[in-house]
Amino acid sequence: VRKGALGLSNSEMKSWRRCHRHWYLSHYRRMKKRAGDDPGSALSVGNLVHDALAAYYDPVAPVDPVEYADAAFKLEIEAHPSEETALRKEHELVTAMLKGYLEWLAQTGEDSNLTILGAEQTVRVPLRSQGEPIVLPNGETLHLLSKLDAPVERISDGQKLALEHKTTGDLNAPLIGYRIDAQFLTEHLARFLHAMEQGATPEEAYNDCSGILVNLLKKVKRTSSAKPPFYNRVDVPHNIYELRNHWKHVVLIATEIADAERRLDAGEDHHTVVPPTPLPDRCKWDCEFFRVCPLADDGSDFEGALNAIYEERDPLERYTGAEEM
Ligand code: SF4
Repeated sequence: VRKGALGLSNSEMKSWRRCHRHWYLSHYRRMKKRAGDDPGSALSVGNLVHDALAAYYDPVAPVDPVEYADAAFKLEIEAHPSEETALRKEHELVTAMLKGYLEWLAQTGEDSNLTILGAEQTVRVPLRSQGEPIVLPNGETLHLLSKLDAPVERISDGQKLALEHKTTGDLNAPLIGYRIDAQFLTEHLARFLHAMEQGATPEEAYNDCSGILVNLLKKVKRTSSAKPPFYNRVDVPHNIYELRNHWKHVVLIATEIADAERRLDAGEDHHTVVPPTPLPDRCKWDCEFFRVCPLADDGSDFEGALNAIYEERDPLERYTGAEEM
């Protein structure tokens, strides 16, 4: 059971919004599939490409992203030899994407219009109302746990932005989808609040970052039959109203989660606190609990099935080492 953790991440909010039972299993019960349970690997291609490029754009000690990925896959295969076949396939995909990205940069000169102002960092920023920490129904104060993307300045127009790397299946998705994407809003809000915690006025904090520059990499191997383009950059601005309204959404979600935790901690049945939101066409591809979900409702030994297929892990592992504020 999650105890004493005050940080709310975008992935936890996403889980809560999508399905309360998914949140219950992934964040309250902290369940994750046991390694080697299926032929796929536990490594996320998206996270790995992101981390390799974050290392490449580190202004102090930049790292070759292909070498970064090679090292990460080597370690992963050593740790999970039963997943070697799936990992080698993913390694090939990641290598093709990253090598192609470096070629794309050399051909287009995309980076010559950017000044990298700092490295990506992970922070835990408090949410305040009238300067006072927000206190949730379970007595905890609320912190936003987020990555701050590498700050950049675009030379042509002087805009200060945050550079976010993202893998995608569709390079031409409509801009409106990016503008309402809670991940980008949360990262932008975290940067804004981080600047305020360091003494900036709201105007200074906003001028320090007016949006996210999304660095898109298409998730394809670039074989001879694949059609370019494979890379693109999209400007995703958020104005101050969008940031303030997102702040309200975050506080509401945190309040709902804290209330659910309080009731579950008191022993209330999960069926009455966190019911499922089944979307059968979606559940089968977006939920790792698809196989066991019906067993929670049909009188089966749900706990036995859960413990056979899943194990406990820290869902906030990715944020280890976050800067406390
Ligand atoms: S399978 Fe669907 S309904 Fe069940 S926990 Fe997952 S998202 Fe929720």
